[in-house]
Amino acid sequence: MTSAAALVSGFTPRDNKVSQPYRRNSSSSVDSDDSSNASETPISYATDPERPAGQPTPRTTKQKVDRRPPSTFHLKKRSEMSWAERLCDLATCPTTMHELKDDSIDRGPPPIQPAWKENVFVLTRGMVPIVLHQLAYWAFPQYKWPFALAYPFYVLSFIGFALQVMDRLSSHCVKLGTFDEKQIGRDRTPDKSVKHLAYGVTAYMFIRTGIAFWLDYDKNVEPLTSFTWTYPLRLAAWELTLDYFFYVYHRASHEIDSLWFIHQHHHTTKHPTAILAILAEEWQEVLEVFLIPFLSSAIVPMTFSEGYMTLCYTIYVEMMGHSGVRAHWCHPVLWPLETVGMGLAVEDHDLHHRFGKSGKNYGKQSRVWDRVFGTCAERIETYGM
Ligand SMILES: [Zn+2]
Repeated sequence: MTSAAALVSGFTPRDNKVSQPYRRNSSSSVDSDDSSNASETPISYATDPERPAGQPTPRTTKQKVDRRPPSTFHLKKRSEMSWAERLCDLATCPTTMHELKDDSIDRGPPPIQPAWKENVFVLTRGMVPIVLHQLAYWAFPQYKWPFALAYPFYVLSFIGFALQVMDRLSSHCVKLGTFDEKQIGRDRTPDKSVKHLAYGVTAYMFIRTGIAFWLDYDKNVEPLTSFTWTYPLRLAAWELTLDYFFYVYHRASHEIDSLWFIHQHHHTTKHPTAILAILAEEWQEVLEVFLIPFLSSAIVPMTFSEGYMTLCYTIYVEMMGHSGVRAHWCHPVLWPLETVGMGLAVEDHDLHHRFGKSGKNYGKQSRVWDRVFGTCAERIETYGM
């Protein structure tokens, strides 16, 4: 059985004097509470290979024993990593995000992140391939990009966009801190999930871009001029449609015991980082990466360029919601819903992960459906904001 309990191992906080990497002894007792009995060299969850020798290793949780599954792949040299480890290592966060913060730190109230800034970020990065495609269209009007050229170009652009989102969120987590940071640092990608996550990320990039090509790509249409003034409205409608289907499947997988296996792997993290947005079982990936966005695109029409920008906004919000950045950081498009208590902010999905199977805050783009069906939870650190 793959479950949080099965993933939990005898992962113990490193003694400050120990500076060896974690090595599991096959004869060790894996669920022991007593670190003194562990016949293995433990390592702190916040270990950084760049840390100078002799420097004290920071704590990662207030609990006596850090029960999160081990994550040591990031300590390897890149030349010794598998392709999956290299891919996940691209999303390795700064060590400070995994450290427990001292009670004496006073950051004040979480700041409000302006939506316009995030729209500028998404539009200036997300529009790059569309603008380049348009320039090529103008420079060589006789040559229209076939699928074989356009598809890999947009997939690579989408990967580049996701990496920029990751960097932005991580840098803000370092600057502003993370939710619940005085109880526990953010989780790392567990060793056991690396391969699964790498396949999930790869599938996400190729399939979501593929949906836009399948439904809307026409090589004769100029990419830049295919936006219309109704796009912002259709983008909002698409996100809310996606969120409805997501809400239904998500709540069902939490509340119907026999469906929990679909979603269980995603909840092995209670304090995720942006890349863990994509950690999931195969069934969840089929639903979230393909079926739900496909249904949304079938209901709310888009041109290809609009569809690509919609992908950028969607992955941005999914990564934002899992980043844990300590700010009142709302959906860049659906932020007006915040005025009626239906907007989504980072803390909403962060709390969802902390609740685990017991649920609340099932929406991932808004709190519209949570409000309608009574499954909203009160915010804690951004209460009243
Ligand atoms: Zn969930």
